[in-house]
Amino acid sequence: MSRFLSRRFASLAPYTPGEQPQGMEYVKLNTNESPYPPAPGVIAALSAAEVSRLNLYSDPQTKALTNAIAKRYGLFPAQVLPGNGSDEILVFCFEAFCGEDAGACFADLTYGFYEVYARLFCLETKVIALSERFTIEPEAYFNAGKTVFIANPNAPTGVFLALGELEEILKHNRENVVVIDEAYVDFGGESAVSLLARYENLLVVQTFSKSRNLAGARLGFAMGSEQLIGDLMKMKFSFNPYNINRLSILAGAAAMEDGAYFEACTKKIMQTREAVAVSLEERGFFVLPSRANFVFAAPKRIGGEAYYKKLKEKGVLVRWFDRDRIRDFVRITIGSDAQMKTLLNATDQILEETK
Ligand SMILES: *Cc1c(COP(=O)(O)O)cnc(C)c1O
Repeated sequence: MSRFLSRRFASLAPYTPGEQPQGMEYVKLNTNESPYPPAPGVIAALSAAEVSRLNLYSDPQTKALTNAIAKRYGLFPAQVLPGNGSDEILVFCFEAFCGEDAGACFADLTYGFYEVYARLFCLETKVIALSERFTIEPEAYFNAGKTVFIANPNAPTGVFLALGELEEILKHNRENVVVIDEAYVDFGGESAVSLLARYENLLVVQTFSKSRNLAGARLGFAMGSEQLIGDLMKMKFSFNPYNINRLSILAGAAAMEDGAYFEACTKKIMQTREAVAVSLEERGFFVLPSRANFVFAAPKRIGGEAYYKKLKEKGVLVRWFDRDRIRDFVRITIGSDAQMKTLLNATDQILEETK
């Protein structure tokens, strides 16, 4: 730390992303990327013609992308704001809706960035513990008095909250914005988009990183009332009007337009997930019910950390969190069938070695 860093950031602990080894030496099941390539239309959209226009700024209205998203979800373009990853959208939400006395409210075990952003913006927080079974108890969020952030399905557990229960949270927080982070919703969850017309306090955030096979393009988006989206737009245009580059705008639009490929990939991942959950249970693991493109599982006998380290030695990367309540677990991204076979073979070896 230099002596120039603002004092308020002295104790800021930044988010630790999952390891991103730049070679191909690992079977990578640690950051919930899709094992499948982007939709065929994405490659076609990134024509040499668009590359040759990189000397010019991108469209600050991101019209091609905004329109494609709006069309897919049956919204007006003014109800949609794409961002440079949904992480950027979340930053705009913390910035726009948590100031003054509002602060932020979220679960004790959820997406790690909520805590980081709350610290970054020096916000008051209300942290609500998940139940023993890692579920969200809706009543605990009633009249939160703060801007509420809920990942649904939740990370890193994969556990989902039914739409009816989520609606109760919306009903009991009319004075606060409720942000539903739907990074994993396409793997068997229920989107809150259908509630937008009835709740002006609802903001839905999604990403292209998981179910749309574009983590490297850095694209996410918010959906909400025209007014809420206008507030987020104010943040964007006060920060970086050209936040999405030319290539990502076209890539995202093409991915959104290919519904069939999206359906095929998400369906395949859900099938693989169910098979992997059974295989892990057969090996004595405790596996939480997942509606995401990962499973959160605790091996028997050896702890989560030892299992993570031994898998890594065998060339398989998963994610282990050094955090109370979940040290026994690892989060395993659902990859291709071949990748999951490698994981299970490595697991069998580890279980044999640690008998
Ligand atoms: C992956 C993830 C994000 C971030 O996605 P990007 O669009 O890649 O920034 C947001 N929220 C949750 C819960 C996630 O798991």
